[in-house]
Amino acid sequence: MLKLPSAITTCLFDLDGVLTQTEKVHAAAWKRTFDDYLGEDAFQTSDYDAYVDGRQRRDGVRAFLASRDIDAGPATVAMLAARKDDAVRDVMRRDGVERYEGSVRFAEAARAAGLRRAVVSSSRNCRAVLAAAGIDDLFERVIDGVDAEREYLAGKPAPDTFLAAAWLLRARPEEAAVFEDALAGVQAARAGGFGWVVAVDRSGQAEALRGAGADVVVRDLGELLSGPRARAARARSAI
Ligand SMILES: [Mg+2]
Repeated sequence: MLKLPSAITTCLFDLDGVLTQTEKVHAAAWKRTFDDYLGEDAFQTSDYDAYVDGRQRRDGVRAFLASRDIDAGPATVAMLAARKDDAVRDVMRRDGVERYEGSVRFAEAARAAGLRRAVVSSSRNCRAVLAAAGIDDLFERVIDGVDAEREYLAGKPAPDTFLAAAWLLRARPEEAAVFEDALAGVQAARAGGFGWVVAVDRSGQAEALRGAGADVVVRDLGELLSGPRARAARARSAI
């Protein structure tokens, strides 16, 4: 019923942009942070996909500034990372946290099928976001930005956080599928030798996601569900 290779026992889900619609929150927060620092419209939508999406905050700050030939010191990087975190909290307070229902149905179906499930996020707010979205009980383990810092795990595009989650669920990488919407996340999954890499294309970058190493690109994880309920849901969404 789940369109995954038969060797897969374990599903590792990114949070922002895969399970919850918080990628919009992060995009707005990054734009506010860099536009305030460098001037109006210094930060463009394409910068979000290329430099910051999926990365830990300080890595994202450094990657974006490097793209503008700005070599910022650690104090500036820390200051901008802190401002971005404040902006995220502001936007979430204002707008709340919405989930992707297709992803929630997929995770429920994975649970029903006996697959192990973890969330792997660069976010330091991961557990709070899962709780706010009402889906924290769907996942057995979480590796987030706080865990990564404590355990000295390199952030995406390094594979370390996904490998740690697979280890916690006693799965070898080739037995685990990764679900990601960010280029850095797909690169991390590929680098980790995971058995199946599903990219969720939320911003019309299917070709780039394939180029980064995705085995399959979908618009919504609901597309990976088969059976009468999934067909009915697809028919409804097509109307
Ligand atoms: Mg993401």
